[in-house]
Amino acid sequence: MQQFIDKYDFTGKRAIVRVDFNVPLNENFEITDDTRIRRAMPTLKKVLASGGSVIIMSHLGRPKKVDPKFSLSHIVDHVSECLGVPVKFAPDCMKAQELAAALKPGEALLLENLRYYAEEEGKPRGLAEDASDEEKKAAKAAVKASQKEFVKTLASYADCYINDAFGTAHRAHASTALIAEYFPNDKMFGYLMEGEIKAIDNVLKNAKRPLTAIIGGSKVSSKLAVLKNLVGKVDNLIIGGGMGYTFIKAQGGKIGLSLHEDELIPDALEILATAKEKGVNVSLSVQTVAGQKFDNDTPQRIFDTHDIADGWEGMDAAPASLENWKKIILSSKTILWNGPVGVFELPNFAKGTLQIAEDLAEATRNGAYTLVGGGDSVAAVTQMGYADKVSYVSTGGGAMLEAIEGKILPGIAAIQD
Ligand code: AMP
Repeated sequence: MQQFIDKYDFTGKRAIVRVDFNVPLNENFEITDDTRIRRAMPTLKKVLASGGSVIIMSHLGRPKKVDPKFSLSHIVDHVSECLGVPVKFAPDCMKAQELAAALKPGEALLLENLRYYAEEEGKPRGLAEDASDEEKKAAKAAVKASQKEFVKTLASYADCYINDAFGTAHRAHASTALIAEYFPNDKMFGYLMEGEIKAIDNVLKNAKRPLTAIIGGSKVSSKLAVLKNLVGKVDNLIIGGGMGYTFIKAQGGKIGLSLHEDELIPDALEILATAKEKGVNVSLSVQTVAGQKFDNDTPQRIFDTHDIADGWEGMDAAPASLENWKKIILSSKTILWNGPVGVFELPNFAKGTLQIAEDLAEATRNGAYTLVGGGDSVAAVTQMGYADKVSYVSTGGGAMLEAIEGKILPGIAAIQD
């Protein structure tokens, strides 16, 4: 039975909290962006303020064995500072019984990187490249068997379980999903997870209409499932960025050197046909800013997107496209944005993406619900200073993408079951 963090009585209880502290570190192991740490604070502080204690668990990077480079000890001081209490550290997440048992109300303990153990992900490690299918099967069975003990040990530290790691909610890992079964009546989402789930529901379940999705980014292949799911749900589908050129080519357009995936032309045509059948308005780019090579200082020229000259590559949305999109955005009540509409990392090709961010901010001011999530659009709105001018910016790239694909995320299902 799912509990709710606001109603749960934490007095004298130990809460084991899965957070996403997978933060970027520089070569001196200093945190270069602590957004993920800060976003988990309301949940951790709530437990401490309600008379409970917290055992914080996370992964950091992708270590394949114990590797000090990926130690969460690098971030203990910063977590202490953010939380306002000294955080203790358990240097082995499987040997934290005593430290956990000694926690008093208001105290916090951080466990070492869960991914030092293969059991966290439940995938075998160190298999020889030429391992036979049988060896692979046996290794998988072995790690699955020892995963049960791993989960049980983590669960033994606490009285209740909170999942606040949206960034890994699409993975059925030990700490993100499997552990929940040890807390049938004491499992809940943290505030961050609750916020992300509400944001997804605001767009996919309870959207005020018209509902518009802006899908950009580099490749159709990485967003095919997103497009196929959304085309049945939205009123307007804006397709921009590198992936738009596959659609333009599918319609018989000349796209010069622009990014495209020929093998996905049939899928692009299918998406356009489904949209027509369902009365969904698809808006592709009509005008493109092109460059001669993938470089910030390359000469620029504007083309009709269906008629880009040989030797030129579409790298940003041009004014005529942006005007069309602005009209659609400002007439919508709900807007989902995933993926930049140009190569926004190169400042000379970032204007289109900046304009979309501005349009979204304006729509938000006018009362629309706007969600930015999945992929590079989050980096774009944050970099451009628009993160607090839209309704919600998701913290989970892959997880948000899978949610928009219509998948049920294991980390969410484990709590709601
Ligand atoms: P995604 O992670 O799928 O959201 O894709 C983001 C990437 O798409 C960014 O690195 C952008 O530079 C890239 N992108 C956007 N528009 C284009 C374009 N016209 N040509 C090449 N890459 C693009």
